[in-house]
Amino acid sequence: MVKRQLEARGITNPHVLSAFRKAAREAFVPKEFKAEAYEDHPLAIGYGQTISQPYIVAFMSQCLDLSKADRVLEVGTGSGYQTAILAELAGEIYSIEIVERLHVIAKLRLTELGYSNIHLKHADASDGWPEEAPFDKIIVTAAASHIPPALTAQLKEGGKIVIPIGDEESQDLVLGRKEKGTLVTKPLLGVRFVPMRGKEESGNPIK
Ligand code: SAH
Repeated sequence: MVKRQLEARGITNPHVLSAFRKAAREAFVPKEFKAEAYEDHPLAIGYGQTISQPYIVAFMSQCLDLSKADRVLEVGTGSGYQTAILAELAGEIYSIEIVERLHVIAKLRLTELGYSNIHLKHADASDGWPEEAPFDKIIVTAAASHIPPALTAQLKEGGKIVIPIGDEESQDLVLGRKEKGTLVTKPLLGVRFVPMRGKEESGNPIK
């Protein structure tokens, strides 16, 4: 997986590559998909949600330029796989999941795997995590119609956010950097994520 799907497609950051060698993706997929754990596509994790394609997890991690001093906010814990990769690369990870059952399963799994720098919360992440803000980096793993203002507010000056923006048909992965209080953004590549829910996305009710 690391050689063929990541290195061959331009994931060059050695820390990102070594994080992928440490965190076993099979620990994060449902039993029936264990045999497909290292294949080049997303997988269903229940509740209409997915664990992202390995390349996309790597690409998002690489473009955040993470360091061990970083405090990171993740929106959409899902299976906890991206969370585990972030925990290998950054300092403290704060991850929010709106589906209670997914939050509970990810919490059990990440505790069992021994991660001590991961903090999980069951909530709508539309408001971010004000008690733990500001963050050096923010990663959103569900597609939003716009960048939630609370997330921009909770990003440090010079901090980076990566977020898929668009509707169910067409989305761009957008990288933003906070400069003099405002976000300077650029689209990076076309992606396909499950839609973000919650109060910022009135068209996507919580199931
Ligand atoms: N990073 C995850 C991807 C999960 S899919 C992984 O690799 O497994 C996106 C997740 O975002 C879903 O679990 C979904 O329930 C969650 N989500 C959607 N809207 C949300 C919101 N407003 N707040 C928190 N989580 C949300």
